[in-house]
Amino acid sequence: MSIEELARKTIRELTPYQSARRLGGSGDIWLNANESPFANEYSVTCSRLNRYSECQPAELIQAYADYAGVDSKQVLTSRGADEGIELLIRTFCEPNQDSILYCPPTYGMYAISAETFDINTKIVPLTPEWQLDLPSIENNLNGVKLVFICSPNNPTGNVMKRRDIEKLLDMTTDKAIVVVDEAYIDFCLETSTVDLLAKYPHLVILRTLSKAFALAGLRCGFTLANTDVINLLLKVIAPYPVPVPVADIAVQALSVAGRAKTKYQVLDISANRAYLQAGLGMLPGVTVYDGYGNYLLVKFSQADALFTALWDHGIILRRSPIENCIRISVGNRDECEKTLAFIRAHVISQGNASANNDELNASN
Ligand SMILES: *Cc1c(COP(=O)(O)O)cnc(C)c1O
Repeated sequence: MSIEELARKTIRELTPYQSARRLGGSGDIWLNANESPFANEYSVTCSRLNRYSECQPAELIQAYADYAGVDSKQVLTSRGADEGIELLIRTFCEPNQDSILYCPPTYGMYAISAETFDINTKIVPLTPEWQLDLPSIENNLNGVKLVFICSPNNPTGNVMKRRDIEKLLDMTTDKAIVVVDEAYIDFCLETSTVDLLAKYPHLVILRTLSKAFALAGLRCGFTLANTDVINLLLKVIAPYPVPVPVADIAVQALSVAGRAKTKYQVLDISANRAYLQAGLGMLPGVTVYDGYGNYLLVKFSQADALFTALWDHGIILRRSPIENCIRISVGNRDECEKTLAFIRAHVISQGNASANNDELNASN
């Protein structure tokens, strides 16, 4: 048997997640992975690396519990929120039997993690306003163990209505777990569902230090849930999931000073987002959707040509599965200015070209 044939059928047939990093590109402006433009400094002590880390470093768990306003028993840390997704699927779904339900357009890893473990996927698209289609979700709950929703949603940028999340929690009581992916919640903390943990034992919230905390390379995420859920996840997680230097750095990021710095950087990025939104919104044929995270989804009349022109010019953005839409991560002011200037020049020259064509066609 070839190595390929030795692999599970599921894996042979799997299309892996097309992360921004995997897609490559070469440029000097990278606004394709919703990373923070800030590179903050940390110090690491390497004096005890001969010893294993704690499974769930107490200081780190307490620091995140304080930040999120929950009890430390309601927090689990893992290798990014992505590992949280995987742990939930492995803990709650029986292969070739149970399903997860998710609502595209949304983050791609729910489906890919499920497929990797032979878990079925039920797809209930968001409404045209990119909100939850509650009647369709209710009709599709059979065999579903996990319902994934993302708020602010990646890539659309909007938040889900709180009332709808509550209705979803009501309709799934004693049936399924509702997972709210709050990877971008630090940009709009007032919309968090964390307070609903007190009322709903089957609510799970995913968080990360990758976005607002500017630590994508650290690989540190959190799952917030009631103790029954956390205790089950602890049975599944690897014995030493958090490297000692990761815990060290994460604790610094969550200190009073670290949180203040993040708060300031969130304000800075939000101001840049408003600048991009206003600038792009003025251009003919361009629609900018309201965004609550550190990115904007923008519709152009010819997104593919624009995307390629930007790419060739060293400005790397992210294509979206939504027709003619490009997702733009909010960078520093200089990156936003250069990106806006290039798009403005491109859109206006395209507009002139098509106007000239119209004139030519008219005179023919
Ligand atoms: C970035 C992102 C994640 C993954 O976060 P990590 O902690 O870096 O693994 C999860 N969900 C959404 C919606 C994201 O955009």
